[in-house]
Amino acid sequence: MLQPPHSSLQVAAVPAQRVPARDQDAPWHTEAVCRRDEAGLFFAPSKEPTAARLSREEAAKRVCARCPVMVECREHALLQPEPYGVWGGLTAAERRVVLARRRRRDMELKKAARTADRIAQAG
Ligand code: SF4
Repeated sequence: MLQPPHSSLQVAAVPAQRVPARDQDAPWHTEAVCRRDEAGLFFAPSKEPTAARLSREEAAKRVCARCPVMVECREHALLQPEPYGVWGGLTAAERRVVLARRRRRDMELKKAARTADRIAQAG
């Protein structure tokens, strides 16, 4: 499991309205805005009350919203899949929803392809 993005945090360094340009040659996690996370925004402490969790997750998502590698981070977390924490602006529960939608979409595409094959063979 890859951990570097959440090992540190740099929230105040990036203005809210600007997302820095992405260096396409660098590994995505080297440009993670959260690399100096000392506030622990991205992972829940044990026995965290619901209101505190929601507030912490929203704060983490605000960091993600101005991160130049949000797309790469999100895909990494979906493909692994990462079971805990906020990655790419999504909580673990939100990632499970995205993965379920992708599985459903893939099944529908396969079904449509099989139907198209049958029609072509019959035709
Ligand atoms: S999208 Fe969020 S979790 Fe991912 S690297 Fe950027 S700040 Fe960190």
